[in-house]
Amino acid sequence: MTYDFDLFVIGAGSGGVRASRISAGHGARVAVAEEHRVGGTCVIRGCVPKKLLVYGSHFAEDLVDARRFGWQLGERSFDWPTLRDNVLAEVDRLNGIYQTNLDNQKVTTLHGRAVITGAHSAEVDGKTVTFDKLLIATGARPMIPDLPGAEHGITSNEVFHLEALPKKLVIAGGGYIANEFAGIFHELGVEVTLINRGDTLLRSWDAALRDRLLTISMTKGINFRFNTRFDRVEKLENGCIRIHLHEGEPIETDMLLWAVGRVPNIEGLGLEAAGVELNAGGAIAVDANSRTNIENIYSIGDVTDRIQLTPIAIREGHAFADTVFGGKPWVVDYSCVPSAVFSNPPLGSVGATEAEARNQFGTVKVFTSDFRPMRNVLAGRNERALYKLIVDQASDRVVGAHMIGPDAPEVLQAVAIAIKAGLTKAQFDETVALHPTMSEELVLMR
Ligand code: FAD
Repeated sequence: MTYDFDLFVIGAGSGGVRASRISAGHGARVAVAEEHRVGGTCVIRGCVPKKLLVYGSHFAEDLVDARRFGWQLGERSFDWPTLRDNVLAEVDRLNGIYQTNLDNQKVTTLHGRAVITGAHSAEVDGKTVTFDKLLIATGARPMIPDLPGAEHGITSNEVFHLEALPKKLVIAGGGYIANEFAGIFHELGVEVTLINRGDTLLRSWDAALRDRLLTISMTKGINFRFNTRFDRVEKLENGCIRIHLHEGEPIETDMLLWAVGRVPNIEGLGLEAAGVELNAGGAIAVDANSRTNIENIYSIGDVTDRIQLTPIAIREGHAFADTVFGGKPWVVDYSCVPSAVFSNPPLGSVGATEAEARNQFGTVKVFTSDFRPMRNVLAGRNERALYKLIVDQASDRVVGAHMIGPDAPEVLQAVAIAIKAGLTKAQFDETVALHPTMSEELVLMR
């Protein structure tokens, strides 16, 4: 049997593009289908535009602080369309680069929605494609809760395209996306209220960092409501949105942003036609080699819900390509994966939290540095940074690092190398401090 392609990839996002390019480099005939835009969530409506908005919004504070550093500034004003359009132009540029990279590797791009019709066939906008191997890399999409009027809210898919900034914004959720957009829009002058179903933000994060983010966010003026559930959402004649809560008075706002989680993109994909099974959480079930229960079908990235991060999807795609087409099998190591929240201020974390380390190692030593960054001192900004190192007492190995403060994710990436390498606290201490920096705290904690 000859097929149209050796590999058919569904989804040209972080994972799908990497898998396509590397597989083609190994000599495979590859096609990738994309129903939206090449680049996927991260490039088109995730990490990249989000981080650019974080940069754009932070000028609000920088311009205030500048006065303490001697800069006399004229009248300040902010123009949302300028920031929005520049960010979207950068997204277009990256989209073009991703497409060129696929073209250069002779990967065929099929622009359209793919539906699986059998273990070796699919349709893209009605046209049949046959293949030896299939890689499902369809990612995840924002969850919209099942309640009356939920459609009046927007999601992270729409938020980058707003015509104008709202005066008031309610964000539903307490995870990283909710906190990042709370920071962005608050800095841009929007009155932000974050409404969370539970009583904690960023549930999986170290408790001390979560508390610090909440304190700083409240001091800045972001409103929070915890243990609050939505009943229904109503669109008023004047265009405003009224949110009816399970308890307490309704809230009126100009805009509602759902940031309550992401669900694997499997709806209408035709998984049943090929017999692909899901796991208990509703994601595509795979083994360590990203292979599904069907021998020639693999899946990577957010749709498998292992760790929903771009570098993980990319690694899974690369490992798949090397293993299946490159004759160089390897599996992704999910230990010590660093992650960040680009809130204001941002958080970075790698390895075990204090609570996890106590469960896993028994006796642990915790070192903290709670300090006011030099820049904040001169700026008269009363915001303290917090760094935490978690050390396994028996081996002296540093097993976790958690930090909140200016540029924490930048610092954290470097610490992640040391922690992944299994360095001990004594080796951290032997390293001479680089002065004056914030990251010198990492080698000065006694
Ligand atoms: P995706 O990149 O989502 O790609 C899947 C692609 O498949 C999409 O382009 C989709 O259109 C396409 N598709 C789906 N179904 C079909 C079909 N049937 N036919 C054809 N095409 C289809 N991660 C980080 O590491 N750092 C961050 O700072 C970060 N910030 C984020 C901020 C936001 C607002 C969001 C939403 C996500 C963020 N993420 C971040 C997560 C990151 O974007 C994802 O983990 C990553 O994109 C997953 O890659 P993927 O290849 O699995 O899927």
